[in-house]
Amino acid sequence: MKRLDTREPNFETEFTALLSNREEQGQEVHKPVADILAAVRKEGDTALCAFTERFDRLPLTAQQLAFTAEEIEQARAKVRPELLEALDVAAQRIESFHKNQLPSDIRYTDDVGMTLGMRWIPLDAVGLYVPGGKAAYPSSVLMNAIPAKVAGVKRLAMCVPTPDGVINPLVLAAAHRAGVTEIYRVGGAQAVGAMAYGTQTIRPVDRIVGPGNAYVAEAKRQVFGYVGIDSIAGPSDVVVIADSNTNPRLIALDLLAQAEHDECAQATLITPDAAFADTVIAAVEAELRVLSRAAIAGASWARNGAVLICRDMKEAVELANCLAPEHLELMVDDPESLFAHVRHAGAAFLGRFCPEAVGDYVGGPNHVLPTSRTARFASGLSVFDFLKRTTFLSGGPDALRQIGPAAVALAQAEGLEAHALSVSARLDALAASTPNA
Ligand code: NAD
Repeated sequence: MKRLDTREPNFETEFTALLSNREEQGQEVHKPVADILAAVRKEGDTALCAFTERFDRLPLTAQQLAFTAEEIEQARAKVRPELLEALDVAAQRIESFHKNQLPSDIRYTDDVGMTLGMRWIPLDAVGLYVPGGKAAYPSSVLMNAIPAKVAGVKRLAMCVPTPDGVINPLVLAAAHRAGVTEIYRVGGAQAVGAMAYGTQTIRPVDRIVGPGNAYVAEAKRQVFGYVGIDSIAGPSDVVVIADSNTNPRLIALDLLAQAEHDECAQATLITPDAAFADTVIAAVEAELRVLSRAAIAGASWARNGAVLICRDMKEAVELANCLAPEHLELMVDDPESLFAHVRHAGAAFLGRFCPEAVGDYVGGPNHVLPTSRTARFASGLSVFDFLKRTTFLSGGPDALRQIGPAAVALAQAEGLEAHALSVSARLDALAASTPNA
């Protein structure tokens, strides 16, 4: 863990190193992923089954790639009722928030009499990748599927690996709750390839969303352009701005909640109070002695954790804007006044009783957020990822008479004769049919 003070002379150098540490840490997987994608594109189901046997130790026939409705129902029946209720709380809140996100179409008639506008249209088919190699993520199923449903996407296909044939029933229960019925037991780059190019069993989709390991991320990168993708998720991160009125143990737990994701995760505390900072550091160390995921969280905290001591809250927000975190907690007396100055953050959590973990599950806004400082230019998953826009222009002779000559002039200046003629021939026809034009 790095403990830096903005008043110390080496701060700029150390902080710059911290920022560059946040660039995505890619693994060398380009070639194996390209080979897997090429095989899936060429051999379809045969390749899918072969890779599933090799990487997930699961021998399958093409007929067994999809979960049956009965299998999904049986899995759901295994989930404890209180967990189904918790899924329902999360699903309802995610659905409600994303319904509020739906944008309106635009349509207006301008001063030359043209009617102009823009229509939002849902994608036809979306593929959801749900990671499942080392752990199961039912919350990710809800966060990816529900916005697609709310946007009006008709077909949702989901791929989830089942190493050794094992799947967490809660993942299938979450899919069921989100209304996803087309689910395949395939993972990794081969799943991404199947959804992008299609196989005999899996029809192609138009966009692939969902997080995954380095193979999944690289596969999404390589199919991008052929299909759409949401984003490439890097390691998760949090920045917590806290004042000394906050219970240090709660701040320590918020930092560790991020650190326990994986060793690459990054947790940063920013505070103007050096003594408080040291109390939080001690609390992190105390929790690491008892936390079940201490090995992962401890490695993340040791390698990527940071505590920044600053002059005041104004400087704290400036530092947070530089870090452009995926998650930003404002654990202070008046979070709204700080939030007004926040410019780069995937999601902000305002107030001492609004920890980031609430947003991971049941807050409502999406937990798929821009990582690796991409909050400078990117936003979290939303209904907009499942919609596209068609603009439209509708005009008659009067409008063409008014704006057509300018189009002709510009087309001629660009040397595009057919463009110019396409407009001028219509203007000529109008002039010929209307003697006084
Ligand atoms: P995964 O489903 O992403 O990957 C499992 C698949 O990887 C396997 O099915 C296999 O096909 C492939 N694979 C494994 N080793 C391979 C090899 N040597 N060659 C080719 N393919 C290989 O599951 P995971 O591994 O548990 O990773 C999940 C990732 O998703 C983690 O990094 C986790 O942090 C991330 N995640 C991110 C979010 C988020 O919102 N950002 C949410 C949940 C999970």
